[in-house]
Amino acid sequence: MRTALTDALTQLPDALQRVVSDWITNTHFGATFSPEQVAQMEAESDLSGAALRLTLLPIAAAYAVTPISTFNVGAIVRGEDGTLYLGANIEFTGVQLGQTIHAEQCAIAHAWTKGATRLTDITINYSPCGHCRQFMNELNGAESLTIQLPKTDPKPLHAYLPDSFGPADLGVESRLLTDAPHQLPTDDIDIPLLKAAADAANRSHAPYSGNYSGVAVETSDGAVFSGMYAENAAFNPSLPPLQVALIATNMAGYHWDDIRSVALAEMTNSTVSHLTDTQATLDAMDPDIPFVYSTLST
Ligand SMILES: [Zn+2]
Repeated sequence: MRTALTDALTQLPDALQRVVSDWITNTHFGATFSPEQVAQMEAESDLSGAALRLTLLPIAAAYAVTPISTFNVGAIVRGEDGTLYLGANIEFTGVQLGQTIHAEQCAIAHAWTKGATRLTDITINYSPCGHCRQFMNELNGAESLTIQLPKTDPKPLHAYLPDSFGPADLGVESRLLTDAPHQLPTDDIDIPLLKAAADAANRSHAPYSGNYSGVAVETSDGAVFSGMYAENAAFNPSLPPLQVALIATNMAGYHWDDIRSVALAEMTNSTVSHLTDTQATLDAMDPDIPFVYSTLST
């Protein structure tokens, strides 16, 4: 288990620590709390709802990878069924800062990779930056998303982002996390990791460029983590598919040196491409990571 997680555990009240320590120290802990686990924490800790989520933030922040800033941010999103998904900020050395993943993006993409289609609220230990406010404005249900910060009353996203610019301004109806798979054929792909990347492309959100794309990461023990591209109406807050796959990898408790190979699949002849940025980020992480690439067509 990560040292940061052990340290975070000691920051919890004793009653809560007793409940969650067995879960967190389990190697299969996926940085997610089921509705049943939430109910158990509430019953045994005298904390409930937002107070519980705020108290759990150090556990989320323990997943931060911050070699540049050493400034750790934690975020917890709640799915419609009450599941809590943790997230933290992730930085990469050796590439431009635009590759950075913010904690809110991490928690949201983490929930997405596990099948959440709508989120009710997000709890964060610092006020969301403008980039994240715009990223969250792309979400399915953004109009009803609640933001909870320490020592601040809960407020809707649109209180933090008045007069917003969003998908509707570009005539786009689809929203991030909406489960509307594309129909790119993937059955003929005979490299399993590339097929996983192509399947992720089929679940990507790319209504602006049409570059449906996905990445799959395989770890040294054979686990595979897929990441779908998350495009944004304001373009720059878009989250590339490599970042989403690395979020899934990180939140499952793996480190970058556990990565054995990576695959990227994206559309043929698209107006945008993730190829050079994906290669640059992987090269900066470890130039020896095997990388496979393929384009897809309808
Ligand atoms: Zn942010």
